[in-house]
Amino acid sequence: MLLSSGVVWRHHTVEDFHAECPDGDPALQRRVVEDLDDALDWLESLGVEPAARETGNPLTVGRRYDTRALTAALVRAAGDVRLDEPFREAGILATGGFGARLARERGLLLRANEWSEGDGLDYGVARGGSLTAGLEQFYGRALPGRVDEGEYVSAAQLYARHALVLDDEGHDLGEAAWHESDLVQRLPGGRAWYVVDARALRRSVRERTVADLVEAARSAGGDVRPAAELPFAVPASAKLVEPPFVAVRVYAAVTHTTGGLRIDEQARVLDGDGRPMPGLLAAGADAGGIFTGGYGSGLAAALVFGRIAAETALA
Ligand SMILES: Cc1cc2nc3c(=O)[nH]c(=O)nc-3n(C[C@H](O)[C@H](O)[C@H](O)COP(=O)(O)OP(=O)(O)OC[C@H]3O[C@@H](n4cnc5c(N)ncnc54)[C@H](O)[C@@H]3O)c2cc1C
Repeated sequence: MLLSSGVVWRHHTVEDFHAECPDGDPALQRRVVEDLDDALDWLESLGVEPAARETGNPLTVGRRYDTRALTAALVRAAGDVRLDEPFREAGILATGGFGARLARERGLLLRANEWSEGDGLDYGVARGGSLTAGLEQFYGRALPGRVDEGEYVSAAQLYARHALVLDDEGHDLGEAAWHESDLVQRLPGGRAWYVVDARALRRSVRERTVADLVEAARSAGGDVRPAAELPFAVPASAKLVEPPFVAVRVYAAVTHTTGGLRIDEQARVLDGDGRPMPGLLAAGADAGGIFTGGYGSGLAAALVFGRIAAETALA
């Protein structure tokens, strides 16, 4: 959470959410859509002012936070936060999924904290918890190479929609959805070339331009070169009209996993028969089945189901 962009958002409606993540559990998606606004107000009641009350994306609503301020407020409210102390027994699992393990096993870059190895998942399964579908899925972002954690946000190459995306033989890998996580998950061998023309370089991506993002790749030590220097002939494309044509080497990076422990609307982990397990709850990326088949706000799901898990535990 501390490393993130801090945009806590939701789709406008449950229907939009489900259309975007068609294999996710509609009941869990409904909770995110219906509970998020109250949860954001609760955050503010802890003394965290949002940096912005909009996401800058017409497809979504939410608020943007300075993640240091947010973390400080949550630590203050929680009181007893211990670092370097892995849990032994737990009632609420919230270890952030198994992105580190997935990235290592698939030979992909990791764009997240290195400790989310799946300890919550393993613990939940050992106690009899069941898993959702889509365990191979993740929230993907393209990076120009291995970068320092302080550059996870700024070095992300988020302009596939303006680029011709090519594999190592020069084949067109097709179009990406608006969030580009779909494309990143299907890059062959976890890598590609993004080729852009001068018009694309002028396009805006959030508060920067594609040219800024290409420059970020170059200064992070990435491979940025004239497209004529690629080891294959670049196919003709409506995306490459105005020279110069620039090619950027990108690699798929795992931000977090989206499959995980199966939970119900009260954040209770379900066993193999779909029955809630006594005394075992999961929230955040340890809980799967919310974004299956698509992309959504991991911060929103963590906030909403973290609060629900606490309420269930107290009840
Ligand atoms: C670069 C980046 C940008 C992002 N931008 C956004 C964004 O703008 N909007 C959005 O919605 N989402 C964003 N995300 C995703 C978001 O950060 C996650 O979805 C969210 O943090 C998940 O919350 P969580 O509590 O499940 O996991 P985390 O926030 O990862 O917290 C899990 C914690 O558990 C700890 N842990 C792991 N194993 C153990 C163990 N055995 N014992 C004790 N502790 C353990 C980890 O160290 C970690 O501190 C971004 C993520 C990254 C990395």
